[in-house]
Amino acid sequence: MARHAGAGAERLDLVVHGGQVVTSTDVLDVAIGIKDEKIVALAPADLLPPAERTIDARGKYVLPGAMDCHIHLGPEYDDWRGGPIAAAHAGLTTLLGFALYDHQARETLPQAIKRLRDETEQQSVLDFGFHFILAHTPYILDGIPEAVEMGVTSFKLFMTYKKRPPRMCPDDFVIAAMERIAKAGGVTQLHCENGDVLDFLENRAIAEGRTAPKDFPPTCPDWAEEEAINRAITMGAMTGSPVYVVHLSTRLGLERIKAAQVQGQRVWTETCPQYLLLDDSLMERWGPYAKMGPPLRPATGPDRDAMWNGLAGGFIATVGSDHAPRVKAAKEPGWKNIFVDPEGKPIPFGNPSVETMVPLMYSEGVVKRGLPLTWMARVLAENPARIFGLYPRKGAIRVGSDADLLIIDPEPEWTVTANELRGIAGMTLYEGWRMRGRPWMTLLRGRVLLNQRKLEQEPGYGRYLARTAPRPPLGGAVR
Ligand SMILES: [Zn+2]
Repeated sequence: MARHAGAGAERLDLVVHGGQVVTSTDVLDVAIGIKDEKIVALAPADLLPPAERTIDARGKYVLPGAMDCHIHLGPEYDDWRGGPIAAAHAGLTTLLGFALYDHQARETLPQAIKRLRDETEQQSVLDFGFHFILAHTPYILDGIPEAVEMGVTSFKLFMTYKKRPPRMCPDDFVIAAMERIAKAGGVTQLHCENGDVLDFLENRAIAEGRTAPKDFPPTCPDWAEEEAINRAITMGAMTGSPVYVVHLSTRLGLERIKAAQVQGQRVWTETCPQYLLLDDSLMERWGPYAKMGPPLRPATGPDRDAMWNGLAGGFIATVGSDHAPRVKAAKEPGWKNIFVDPEGKPIPFGNPSVETMVPLMYSEGVVKRGLPLTWMARVLAENPARIFGLYPRKGAIRVGSDADLLIIDPEPEWTVTANELRGIAGMTLYEGWRMRGRPWMTLLRGRVLLNQRKLEQEPGYGRYLARTAPRPPLGGAVR
């Protein structure tokens, strides 16, 4: 017997009404009905059954839950308890974090996945998955098929960082890894910079006494990124593995990626707020705190504009934060020598970014540069979900998807300050930036998570996301 709305009809858990609903392709005047963690209806509010809780989103934009697909959490960074809490306050609902195995103990991928999954389920307030970093430790490759079965479908290799063995992977190892990843149905992420070139230039700078913070970016030239991207793409073609270039930072590199995309090769890329918004002039003011890999690019160069154009044109699929915060004590020695400390240990790369990413993309991308709201839904939700095997469970506002929402209030004007941030870094390169608009509320699996600056859920609410094979991201111009 059919069930009718009204008396006796099943109640919904939650209805979000009155807001403009933004998907990766459309802006709709529609209400969202939610039950048992899922979106169950998109309809005019007066056609939906009654709900336990309603959210009046008039004057707000309702986007699919935002995902950070490039974040470093764990020892030396924000941990998996504090990091997700900070990210949740900043409007995110899902984190795909980089994970490490213990190569000294010859830990396998399945062992490391189980260990980290069990630990993180106790800690994280956000839903989460792992990309595993594969160091140059050949035994690790045997675990790839089982890792994919356990829901880890993305693996990152570094083509640089020669002074941090066994991190940098030579080409023969990259090829061997790509072959296994392709066969298992995963995606290979690559940090594309030519490590031999960077190490040579760094050693020469040290020998010649050019070790001030401003001497760091010139040791990482744009063509060293382009060269490594070219090699990664070529090896991807050779092995059949999808190639995902992390944190793209140069116009030269983007041109090479576009050429591969035109050929129909599965080559996808991401950029980060810092390569869209910041430049190497910050090395004077912030010194080691602005040291990151790849480096901030020249203030007068073409790279920042190229990143915005690449996003608007649909060639750059995603924006990730590359959040890699460090405590002050780890960075401070870099004022004297930006490359290595007195014991010869590298001054760490990385800066905090997850707490500013969503507001910056709205304020700088949508408000200031006129990118459409659908662009935000594309690069922060749908495309990372597609590439990393979560679509349409995550990244979409449609019936059957997890009820993960990011509701933005376009009105507030405010100023970024480290005092309001929660991470261990205790600073932000965006100190004093004027912003327009702010995450107002988020939902994660049907529950309110962020509610006007406060969290309604506790650490441990987050769930491990077993992921599947990549799907191509949406491309094409967004305006
Ligand atoms: Zn990174």
